[in-house]
Amino acid sequence: MTNAAQAAEQKGEVDVEAIVIGAGFSGLRCMHELRSRGISTKILEKGTDVGGTWYWNRYPGARTDSESWVYCYSFDKDLQQEWDWKERFPTQAEVQAYLGHVADRHDMRKDIEFGVMVEAAKFDEDSQLWTVTTSTGQTYTSRYVVAATGQLGIQHFPFAGVENFQGQAYHSSSWPKEPVDFTGKRVAVIGTGATGIQIIPLVAQEAESLTVFQRTPNYVMPARNFALTDTHRNAIKRDYDRVWEQVRDQPFGMAFDPVNRISGDTEPASRDQVLQAGWEAGGFRYIFETFDDLLTDQECNDLASEFVRNKIRAIVKDPKTAELLCPTNHPVGGKRVPLGHFYYETFNRDNVTLVDVNANPVERFTEKGLKTADGELEFDVIIIATGFDAVSGALTHMNVRGRDGQTIENRWADGAESFMGMMVDGFPNFFTILGPQGPFANNPPVIEHQAEWIGKVITHCEQEGKLAEVSRQTVNDWFRVTQEAFDSTVLGKGEEANSWYLGANIPGKAHKILYWFGGAPAYFDLLEEAERRGFDLVDARSAATVG
Ligand code: NAP
Repeated sequence: MTNAAQAAEQKGEVDVEAIVIGAGFSGLRCMHELRSRGISTKILEKGTDVGGTWYWNRYPGARTDSESWVYCYSFDKDLQQEWDWKERFPTQAEVQAYLGHVADRHDMRKDIEFGVMVEAAKFDEDSQLWTVTTSTGQTYTSRYVVAATGQLGIQHFPFAGVENFQGQAYHSSSWPKEPVDFTGKRVAVIGTGATGIQIIPLVAQEAESLTVFQRTPNYVMPARNFALTDTHRNAIKRDYDRVWEQVRDQPFGMAFDPVNRISGDTEPASRDQVLQAGWEAGGFRYIFETFDDLLTDQECNDLASEFVRNKIRAIVKDPKTAELLCPTNHPVGGKRVPLGHFYYETFNRDNVTLVDVNANPVERFTEKGLKTADGELEFDVIIIATGFDAVSGALTHMNVRGRDGQTIENRWADGAESFMGMMVDGFPNFFTILGPQGPFANNPPVIEHQAEWIGKVITHCEQEGKLAEVSRQTVNDWFRVTQEAFDSTVLGKGEEANSWYLGANIPGKAHKILYWFGGAPAYFDLLEEAERRGFDLVDARSAATVG
C-alpha cells in the first residue's frame, strides 16, 4: 500500500482496499489472489450463496460443457487432489458444491456479503477512491473495484405480457430452488441455445407435451457424458501438471493435444473418418481434435458442417423436422457450439413438436399461453431460454461512473471495448474479469490468469504509488488486433445467426466482437509480456501499443 493509501485507510477513508462484485468462479479466485497479496477484500454478491452462474442457472439438465478436470481451479494443488469430480461433465449442483467447498476451505464467507445488488460504483477524482452503493443503501469506499460479474448474468426476456399468464413461466437463469414438476403438463421451451438444448431432453421425458420454439438451429455436439472411475480420476490427478500445461497451450484452454492435421493435407476418403472419430469422442473434441483449420478454412468448415447436418438427418426420423434442425445460415462454430445429451433423439418422441419461429414468431404471453403469428397456443409451463445481454450487460446495467462522471454505458454506446477484457479507459483502478475482448475459451483458466494479472497490476501500482489506468489508444489498439484475429477465422457469419459473442442477439445492441479469438496461449503470452515491460500498458502516461 502507498503511504497515501495507508493514511487514507487509517483515517477511515476506505472501508476496504478492494471491492469485488460477484462470488462466482471469478470473484472467489480474485479474492484469493488479492488477499494473498495483502490487499483487504470484500465481495458483494446478489445471490444468497457463492456460485455465480452456477447459483442462478439451476434449470433441469444444467451441467458444464467443459470437462470437469479442467473446469476448476489450478491454484490450490491440495484441492485438486482432494476434490473428486463425479462425471465428465458435472451438474450445476456439483459445480456449486465445488465452489462452496473452495469458499469454505479458504475461509472466504466471512468477507462476502450475500443478498446485495451493487446499484452504483462511482470514482471520485479528488480522493481517487471508489464508492460502491448496494441495494440495501449501504455504501463502501474502496481503492479498487473488480467487477467479477460474469458474462451471462443479465437476462434477455424478449416477450411482453408474462404477468398475464396464469401458468408457470421461468427464465432459465432464475429457476426456483425447488424442482419444477412437469408431469402431465403442456410445456413450451423458447430458445435452442446451449441452455434450451440441455433443458429439452429432460423435460420431454416428464411432460405430457413439449413444444420447442426454435429460431436459429445450432450444430449440437453429442456430449457423451460418463461417470468417472477412480482409475480415470487418479490418472488425471497424477498427471495434473501436464493437464494444466495442455490447457495453457491449447487455443481454447482445453486439455487437448494439438492434432497437427489440416483438412487439405488429408486424403478426401479419410476426412469423414477423422470427423466421425471427433463425433464419437464427444464434447468439443469434434471441433478441436479433428482438423486444426476447422475454424479458419471455409472448405474444411463446410465439410464439418455438412457432416453434422447428415448426422441430424440420420438421427431424426421425420425428414421435415430433421431439415428444420439443420443449421444453414452460419458455419459450425459461428455461434457458441452447444453440447447435447440425446438432443436430436428427443425429436423422435411422440410428445415433442418443433415450431419454426421464423415462420411463426412468438409475439407475447397471453393468459393461457403464447400468442404467435399463427394464433394462440395454450401451455401450463413456459420456459424462456432466450439467453443474455452477454459480456457487457452486467456492467452497463450497474451504473458504473469513472472520470468526469462518465458511465460505462455511455463509454460503450458504440459497443463494448476494453483492454484485454480487464480494463477500460476512463475507469481508473477498476477491473473486469471476463470483460469484452478477453479470450473465447474454457473460463476457469482465463479467470485464473486474469485474476493473477490484476493482482500483479495492483501490487505494482501500490508500490509505484500510481493509479491503474489504460489510455484510449491502448484500448483501441487491443480492439484492432482482436478484430484482426477474428477476421482470420470463418466465424464472422455468426452475425447473420444472432451470435451473442458479436452482440447480435440483443435488439439495439451495438454489434462488436466481444471476444479475443487469437487463441488463449497468445493472450497469456501478451499478459506475461506486459508484466515484463513493467506494466507499461496500464499506465495512461505510456503510449505503448499492443500486438
Ligand atoms: P443463447 O445461446 O443466446 O440462445 C438463446 C436462444 O433463444 C436462441 O435459440 C435464440 O434464437 C432464442 N431467441 C432469442 N430471442 C428470441 C425470440 N425473440 N424469439 C424466439 N427465439 C428467441 O442463450 P443460452 O442458450 O442461454 O446460452 C448462452 C450461453 O450460455 C451459451 O452460449 C454458453 O456460452 C452459456 N451456457 C453454457 C452452458 C454450459 O457450459 N454448460 C450451458 C448453457 C449456457 P437465435 O439463435 O435465433 O437468436
